[in-house]
Amino acid sequence: MKVVTTIDELQQELEKYRTAKKKIALVPTMGYLHDGHLTLAKTARKDNDIVVMSDFVNPTQFGPNEDYESYPRDLKHDEKIATEAGVDYLFVPSVEEMYPTDGGIRFEAGPASKILCGASRPIHFNGVLQVVSKLFHIVQPTHAYFGQKDAQQLALIKMMVRDFNFPLTICSVPIVREEDGLAKSSRNVFLTAEERKQAPTIQKALQQAQKEFLQSHDKDKAIQIAKTMIESETSGKIDYLELRSYPDLQEIHPETRHFLLATAVYFSNVRLIDNILF
Ligand code: AMP
Repeated sequence: MKVVTTIDELQQELEKYRTAKKKIALVPTMGYLHDGHLTLAKTARKDNDIVVMSDFVNPTQFGPNEDYESYPRDLKHDEKIATEAGVDYLFVPSVEEMYPTDGGIRFEAGPASKILCGASRPIHFNGVLQVVSKLFHIVQPTHAYFGQKDAQQLALIKMMVRDFNFPLTICSVPIVREEDGLAKSSRNVFLTAEERKQAPTIQKALQQAQKEFLQSHDKDKAIQIAKTMIESETSGKIDYLELRSYPDLQEIHPETRHFLLATAVYFSNVRLIDNILF
């Protein structure tokens, strides 16, 4: 595996594969890699000739009071995991390399970016679409891989690809979890020991809500069950817990067939997200 830090070098490396019409996969990450990232990379490895993983904590998707500065970083660890996953190129640009100039041009993600996570993180998805579109242009992948852990992000990226005719296929992988059900996340290190014990309740609560909804079709009751469970069994504060249609993220209606049950919960030093797609 080669670690590349500049756009020029990466493009020079990839040119020969593009000319030879090879399948090039991109796996965007913010590093501090765990089994969720590893699964994305291994899935990409299986179905492509070349796998590029980006490892970049993107400042434009963090709000002023969010955890950009403290976001965990460990390049040596990432190199080891990425090598293990069969990544060919680990792209680790600096902020200056990614944003040398600023013409002020931004993606303005639509209404689907203002709900769920977007309600408390108003600029987040504009920043995500900005960096992902830059990575698409830099790498020019044939396939790009994203996790269902960030279901709203995945839906918005698919909308961007469709609306802006990006010539690539978006692939997704299911959520990878710890043995006790907690969704793997780079941010789990910020949980206190007590919160770590409580955190698997988030997934259990979503499962209970899903079960209730499938039985009774009573959305409000299902959501209340999950909220009560999280509020009584953890010290976390619920940011949102909602049931929406997927992938369009609308209010559900009798014809809705695909659902996203999603939540975000604040603990003392970290905000965790989780969801069930069904
Ligand atoms: P991040 O480094 O958190 O920005 O995540 C990079 C990519 O990995 C995104 O597409 C995430 O959805 C995905 N990802 C993160 N955690 C998990 C997980 N537990 N299971 C599956 N995919 C994940």
